[in-house]
Amino acid sequence: MAKSDVYEAVESERERLRSMAREIWETPELGLHEEESAQVLIDRLEAEGFEIEVGVGGMPTAFVASYGTGDPTVGILGEYDALPDLSQTVSAERDPVEEGAPGHGCGHNLFGVAGVGAAVGVKRAIERGDLTGTVRFYGCPAEETLVGKVFMARDGAFDDLDAAVTWHPSTKSTPDVSSSLALDSVQFTFEGVSAHAAASPESGRSALDAVELLNSGVEYMREHVPESARIHYVITEGGDAPNVVPAEATVWYYVRAPERAEVDRLTDWVTDIAEAAAAMTRTEVDRRYITGCWDYLANPTVSEVIWETMRELGPVGYDDEDRAFAADLKETIPDEQVESSLEDLPEEHAEAMRESALYDEPVPPHAEGEVGGGSTEVGDVSWITPTAQFRAATWAVGTPAHTWQATAANGDFGEKGAVYAAKVLGGTVHDLLDDPDLVERANEEFDETTGDRSYETPLPPEAEPPFDVTAE
Ligand SMILES: [Zn+2]
Repeated sequence: MAKSDVYEAVESERERLRSMAREIWETPELGLHEEESAQVLIDRLEAEGFEIEVGVGGMPTAFVASYGTGDPTVGILGEYDALPDLSQTVSAERDPVEEGAPGHGCGHNLFGVAGVGAAVGVKRAIERGDLTGTVRFYGCPAEETLVGKVFMARDGAFDDLDAAVTWHPSTKSTPDVSSSLALDSVQFTFEGVSAHAAASPESGRSALDAVELLNSGVEYMREHVPESARIHYVITEGGDAPNVVPAEATVWYYVRAPERAEVDRLTDWVTDIAEAAAAMTRTEVDRRYITGCWDYLANPTVSEVIWETMRELGPVGYDDEDRAFAADLKETIPDEQVESSLEDLPEEHAEAMRESALYDEPVPPHAEGEVGGGSTEVGDVSWITPTAQFRAATWAVGTPAHTWQATAANGDFGEKGAVYAAKVLGGTVHDLLDDPDLVERANEEFDETTGDRSYETPLPPEAEPPFDVTAE
C-alpha cells in the first residue's frame, strides 16, 4: 500500500475527525479529568478494532491503543486536556462561552484527534497486509501540568517502542527540531504555630516568614546558576489575615534548565534553602514533588521523514473564509507578538507570514540545536525511544498558545489543520513501518546521542498522579 493510500484513508475520515475535534472543544476538561474527551478517542479506536488498555500510570484518563503484531512498533502521542479560564466562542473578540470556564487554548482538542486519524489510516494498511508491524496511539492526559507522559513512562508504557511521533497546533507547519527545558515542579509547605499577631506574637511561628526566607534565598542563589536556568515561583497559600500568625504557607516552584542533571542539582539546592528557612523560623517543611520532565531530543531521521511527508502534502488548503476569520483574529494580536513569533524563521517564510493571516506553507526545519523557553514531557519519551514532532498551522499568524484567539481558531479552521496533521503523522508512520532501515538508523542516532545517559524517571517512588493540580 502506497503512502498515498494512508492519506486517502485519513481523508475519508475528515468529517468524522472534525466532529470529534468539535466535540472535545465543546467539552473542555482540565488535566487528569478528561473523562469525556478521552472517551471520544477510545470509542473511535475501539470501533476500529484497536486493543485498548485504559488507566495507564494510575491515571483513569490515560490509555494505550494498539493494532497489529510484531516489530517495528511505532507510537503516536496524543493529548486532549484543556486550560483554565480560556473558554471562548468562535469569534474575533474576547467572548467566553462561560465566564471563567476552561477552554481549548492550546489546541489539544485537535491534537489527540489527529493522532487517532493517523492511527486509523495506518491500521487500514496493516489490515490489508500492505504494512507489517504495530501502530500504537498513546492517549496522554494532563500535558499542561507536565504529568501524563511522565507517569506513563514510569509505568514502562513507551519501553518497547522503536520510534514515536507527535505534533502540536501552531501558527506554522514545520518539523520541530529545537530542544526544550527539563523541569521540576515542587511545592514546599511550611507548618508553624498560629497566634494573635499583636497580642501574643512571641508564641507564634510564621510559616509565611519561612516562605519569604526561602524565596529570598533563591533570589541570592539565582546569581550563581547557569544563565540558561529558569526558576520561578508562586505563593499559593500565605495566611488568612494580618492579625493571625500564619500557621501554614505554601510556595510552588518550577525549576528548569536545558539538561535533566542540571535541574536535579538546582532543585536539591532549592530544597536545602527550604530546610534552612524552616530552621530559621522554627517551622517544619514538607516537600511535595508534583512532577518533572526531561529536555526534548529531536531524532534527525524521523524529523527528516516528517519533513519529506510535509513537502509531499504541501499546504493545509485553507479557503477564503478561513483566511478572513484568521485576518480578524490577527488584528487583535499586538504587532510585537507577531514579530516575535517570526524569530528564527527562514527569511522568505518570515516575510510571507508577516503579510498573511493564515500561513500553511510547510516551513523547513530550523532552529536546530536551540533550546526553546518551554518544557514538555514529550522530552521524557524522547529519551526512551527515537522521537520526532512537528507543528501544523492551525492558528492565525502571531497567535500565542494559551490565548482566547487560539481557542477560537481551534473551534473553527484549526480542524482542517488537524486533518492535515493526521496525514503527516500517518505518512511518517507509514514510512517507518515500510522501511526497516529508517528505524534502524533512527535507533543508531538515538544510541549515539544519549550515550551513557539513560532515562530515569524524575519522580520519587512515592509520587502519585496529582489529581488536585490543574493550573499550569
Ligand atoms: Zn499544548
